[in-house]
Amino acid sequence: MQAAAQIPNQPRLLDTYRWVIVAAGAVALMLSTAWLPAPKFDWRLLILTGVMMFVSARFSVQIPRVNTNITISDAFIFLVLLLYGGVAGILLAAVEGLFSGLRISKRPITVAFNSAMMLASTSLTVMVVRLFFGSIADLRFQDLSHFGVAVGTMALVQYFSNSGICAVGLAIKTGEPIWRTWQTHYLWTSITYLAGAGLAAVVSNSIDKMGLAILFVGAPIIVIVYFTYNKYLNEIKSTAALAEQAERERAEAERARAEAERERAEQAERHVEELNRHLAEQERISVQLQESKDHFRHAAFHDALTHLPNRALLTENLKFVIERAKNHEDYQFAVLFLDLDRFKNVNDSLGHSIGDQLLIAMARRLESCIREADIVARLGGDEFAILLDGIPNVAEATNMARRIQEKLASPFNLSGHEVFTTTSIGIALSSTGYDHPENMLRDADTAMYRAKAQGKACYEVFDKGMHTHAVYLLQMENDLRRALDREEFCVYYQPIVSLENGQLAGFEALIRWQHPERGFVNPSDFIPLAEDTGLIIPIGLWILKKACQQLCQWQWQSTANRHLFMSVNLSSKQVVQPDLVAQIRDVLEETHVEAKHLKLEITESCVMENADMAARLLKRLKALGVQLSIDDFGTGYSSLGYLHRFPVNTLKIDRSFVGRIGEAAENIEIVRTIVSLAENMGMEVVAEGVETLSQLSQLRKLSCQYGQGYLFSRPVDAGSVTAWISRKPHWQADLFPTLMNEQYMPAKPAAPVIQLVGASA
Ligand code: C2E
Ligand code: MG
Ligand code: MG
Repeated sequence: MQAAAQIPNQPRLLDTYRWVIVAAGAVALMLSTAWLPAPKFDWRLLILTGVMMFVSARFSVQIPRVNTNITISDAFIFLVLLLYGGVAGILLAAVEGLFSGLRISKRPITVAFNSAMMLASTSLTVMVVRLFFGSIADLRFQDLSHFGVAVGTMALVQYFSNSGICAVGLAIKTGEPIWRTWQTHYLWTSITYLAGAGLAAVVSNSIDKMGLAILFVGAPIIVIVYFTYNKYLNEIKSTAALAEQAERERAEAERARAEAERERAEQAERHVEELNRHLAEQERISVQLQESKDHFRHAAFHDALTHLPNRALLTENLKFVIERAKNHEDYQFAVLFLDLDRFKNVNDSLGHSIGDQLLIAMARRLESCIREADIVARLGGDEFAILLDGIPNVAEATNMARRIQEKLASPFNLSGHEVFTTTSIGIALSSTGYDHPENMLRDADTAMYRAKAQGKACYEVFDKGMHTHAVYLLQMENDLRRALDREEFCVYYQPIVSLENGQLAGFEALIRWQHPERGFVNPSDFIPLAEDTGLIIPIGLWILKKACQQLCQWQWQSTANRHLFMSVNLSSKQVVQPDLVAQIRDVLEETHVEAKHLKLEITESCVMENADMAARLLKRLKALGVQLSIDDFGTGYSSLGYLHRFPVNTLKIDRSFVGRIGEAAENIEIVRTIVSLAENMGMEVVAEGVETLSQLSQLRKLSCQYGQGYLFSRPVDAGSVTAWISRKPHWQADLFPTLMNEQYMPAKPAAPVIQLVGASA
């Protein structure tokens, strides 16, 4: 047996152990040579030694999976022990150990250890056998059973001592436990010892009878056994190789599996990481989305310019308070609807940027007026609304309206411009009882319009009557839209009379609406609506044409009528119409009316509201040759200072002044002033609303040139006028001769002295 040449785990301990064994071997050699009888060497021993060296050098068998060789040298050692006694066997074992040591290593300690191990174990074997069975060289002469037991003992002691020393060495080297090392590597080698000892016993027993011939018989047997065993071992080897291969493959598969597993785990980890990354990304995106949702929600419920809540948000809040009011009897709230007065003027004169600034500043000022629970919203344009949440009484709402109007008393400073503004406020109260926010806003809006109609900077609280009126207006608006197409309009004419000689001077064209259900509707009841809706533009053009056609007809009826003029009213909405002059020119051409026979009446307030524009327009109209009258003069706060800027031919004294002549002294003074003003400026004067002879008398005394009024005639339809003028009317006979006589004064306020025709409006 040879110890494995491995790299030791614990080199120091292994070396110590080897030196101990070497020492033990030396001691064993000394003791055995001292105690045991010296062997008799002969040529047979030499041959045996030679054969052993040759055989064991060539035929060593590597035990598969166990790093150990076995040779048949043990058989030779047993044989020499049995033939030549202990010392010869011990020496042969030492030599064998030396050579086999040299075969596996060049390190002296390894070689010495190998030899010493053989020495020590063989010496122990010899001692034990000699102790129990007597001289070892004499055993083969004993009876067979004694010999057999002794040989068996010899084999076992040799085996245990030899394998024990090797196992301890290997265990030190590998760090494995001694017992497990011995079990794994050396347990099975007992067979070779027993087999070797058996073979040695047979050969030693027969050698005396057969001589060395036994070698020639035994050698082939040994060779056969060797090769059979070798083959068996080879098979074991290949089986082991296969097993190893399988083991390797299994290990490889295991490794591959572990690798795949690791790969999978890594992949899973990467996947999870990727997933986490995705989730984080999604999270980020969804956070952004949320954020943008908030942004959109904010944008959806707020006004971009002022950042106030918009109509949608106000409506939502209104829904809420309407519901609350249903469940709580004492709970009240109000909506204030605000509209800036003359906001358009700010935009037109200072530009939209200042207009925007005004709205923003307005928003901030409104915010400063309200309580925490209230909401200010911008509804659009210059319209704002305030929800007063939880008010004790109506007074709270009207107080708030007043407070706002006071707050607006101080001007806004916008980019260096001082801007004054006022606001009209409509108030709707929850006590009216609302189901829908829109209705409440509508009513507040209606009240606001009513406030606006009262003049600027007013407030009005909504009542049901306003709603009825608003519904009426809406209905009227619808009807008005259809009236032109349905030819429901007609023109009435009212004579304008020369107060000097009582002759017919011309007519004022006045529109009438023959409503299918309501009958005649007065212009004052639908002209403002027509102006608000813009319908006045087509209506005004229609009247202009109609009146000019009519004038032309009357002028051609008789040469006595050629001097007649036609007065047509122009609305302020028509005045700002860019193509008005062209339209008038076209109408004149179309109807063959001379421009000087057309008089356009523009109210004083209309002229004053758009002074610059009116001045430009009037100049162009004047250039066209038409005459111009200022209607309702005296009511429109006109600044007499710039009357001269307007190329006006006629002033029409408002009916309110004429009607009060005679009531008080100052009334006649106003009329007198207007008449002399006109005279000074080279204008003519028409007194409107002349109803009585007294008025007529006074006006004539004041040298007022023309008169118009029920005294002469109410406005009448065209047919009546046609019939009447064919009879060559003149007032001289009826009125003027008397009037010429300054003594004449009517006994009582006169009803119309002349009824042109029965029909009047
Ligand atoms: P206006 O232009 O000042 O017309 C005179 C108004 O005084 C007419 O009322 C006429 O019927 C009324 N009137 C005339 N004499 C007397 C009188 O002795 N006593 C009283 N109480 N009233 C008298 P009407 O026709 O109702 O028209 C009212 C206003 O409607 C007009 O005032 C004018 O501003 C406007 N209007 C009438 N027709 C038209 C039109 O075709 N176009 C425009 N834009 N406005 C018109
Ligand atoms: Mg008029
Ligand atoms: Mg008038």
